Amino acid sequence: MDRAIHRTIIIKNHLLQPNSDQILTTNACLSYSPPELNEVYDFDLKEMRKLLDGHNLQERDWLFNLMVQSKLFNPRKRGEKVYVAPDYNQTMEQQREMTMKRISYLLERNVFEGWLTAKGAEAELRKLALLEVTGIFDHSLAIKIGVHFFLWGGAIQFFGTQRHHEKWLRDTENYVVLGCFAMTELGHGSNVRGIETVTTYDANTGEFIINTPCESAQKYWIGGAANHATHTIVFSQLEINGKNQGVHAFICQIRDAAGNICPNIRIADCGHKIGLNGVDNGRIWFDNVRIPRENLLNSVADVSPDGQYLSSIKDPDQRFAAFMAPLTSGRVIIAGSSVYKAKIGLAIAIRYSLSRRAFSITPNGPEVLLLDYPSHQRRLLPLLAKSYAASCAANYLKMMYVNRTPQSNKTIHVVSSAFKAILTWHNMRTLQECREACGGQGLKTENRVGHLKGEFDVQLTFEGDNNVLMQQVLLSP
Ligand SMILES: Cc1cc2nc3c(=O)[nH]c(=O)nc-3n(C[C@H](O)[C@H](O)[C@H](O)COP(=O)(O)OP(=O)(O)OC[C@H]3O[C@@H](n4cnc5c(N)ncnc54)[C@H](O)[C@@H]3O)c2cc1C
Repeated sequence: MDRAIHRTIIIKNHLLQPNSDQILTTNACLSYSPPELNEVYDFDLKEMRKLLDGHNLQERDWLFNLMVQSKLFNPRKRGEKVYVAPDYNQTMEQQREMTMKRISYLLERNVFEGWLTAKGAEAELRKLALLEVTGIFDHSLAIKIGVHFFLWGGAIQFFGTQRHHEKWLRDTENYVVLGCFAMTELGHGSNVRGIETVTTYDANTGEFIINTPCESAQKYWIGGAANHATHTIVFSQLEINGKNQGVHAFICQIRDAAGNICPNIRIADCGHKIGLNGVDNGRIWFDNVRIPRENLLNSVADVSPDGQYLSSIKDPDQRFAAFMAPLTSGRVIIAGSSVYKAKIGLAIAIRYSLSRRAFSITPNGPEVLLLDYPSHQRRLLPLLAKSYAASCAANYLKMMYVNRTPQSNKTIHVVSSAFKAILTWHNMRTLQECREACGGQGLKTENRVGHLKGEFDVQLTFEGDNNVLMQQVLLSP
């Protein structure tokens, strides 16, 4: 902690240096002692952390301590500190199994208590804080948890009604069922309204029939589908009496409790990715799969037992917008999570620049600290300043989200779209600069900063491609 404060002071001094001629100092190399060890600091670290983390500091520490106590999280002691980080030398299959073991460990310690059954802003903030901590450890762990609770569980909460809440939420919280979320298809990603999966209704049996009519309609990239998920939310065109009523969401079982794939379901693996290999992304085909009528998530529209389509929202555009509105939580989470990765990259690169030296400015003189080069300062410190601002922006967005009202939903949609795009772009730009600022060391997986680029690049694309989101922001009144 003290060292972190010292480093902050040093950075401040660099910024406030009155005479730029003196920036390149010539400390004797051999007598070098990091200035951070000798300087005093004049601000309260706890207050700074309160500002940056924003909420649920105790719960964050509690979860971090749970991780540190288990070998599953690879704790390593360096000096007085304990660090945890996944072993990325493992195969894709091993990483996926480790993700599930870590989830079981956290489940047994009640980390997910109330994530779907507790209500109110406080419960939501706790959940967001704990998810952020898992993401600081490993993106795969956070995404696997996020898909289960926020996409599958969130769809049931927001698209479903009481009958779905009673049947599924508690079992989801306890991992009796493992959920995934099948919206994207091979042929349609950003253009959700163009998906080709078709669902019809059989009034004789009271069942919906879900079908993948062509190869481009296969569900693609579905997190959790390749190995573990037992159930999925399926997004599909709903055709009633020959009329297309647009995209609707259904619950469908894809595996039994023993992990066997259900009849008329086909699943394939999306394979190795540039990051997130602890998540089993998969492809799903539905061959006229029959599900009960009650499995339509019917908060926006329903089908009566005799096959009549019922919705209070008559305009298909508005109906589609109502379906998409609950997906805001994903963008809020990604915006918040991306700032933490920028901070990790900057902590590593700035720390390195305060110990690494390169080139002397006088013959046989000591070499110069990287951060004493004005170019190095200009590369890293504006990104650091922007990351502080980004932290505040992410916290502002979270508060907006947990205190949402029907009147504020549209604003939250626009702000979350803009912040998700801007903060994830900032993160990738920062990680790239930090990687280069560390030279060759930035490429070593163990040093994290380069590896994080591969892990978090996907944040620019999923939960709304950044460019598409920015177009929506532009077009919003
Ligand atoms: C690792 C990973 C995990 C995922 N997990 C899930 C999951 O669990 N469930 C799920 O349903 N989906 C998931 N996805 C899918 C993800 O949501 C989609 O990849 C995303 O929506 C983008 O769709 P796309 O890949 O088809 O790209 P496209 O929509 O084809 O976009 C390709 C490019 O075209 C541009 N573009 C598209 N439309 C326009 C336009 N109108 N104007 C200008 N440019 C445009 C985009 O900006 C982008 O650069 C996942 C994806 C990945 C990579």
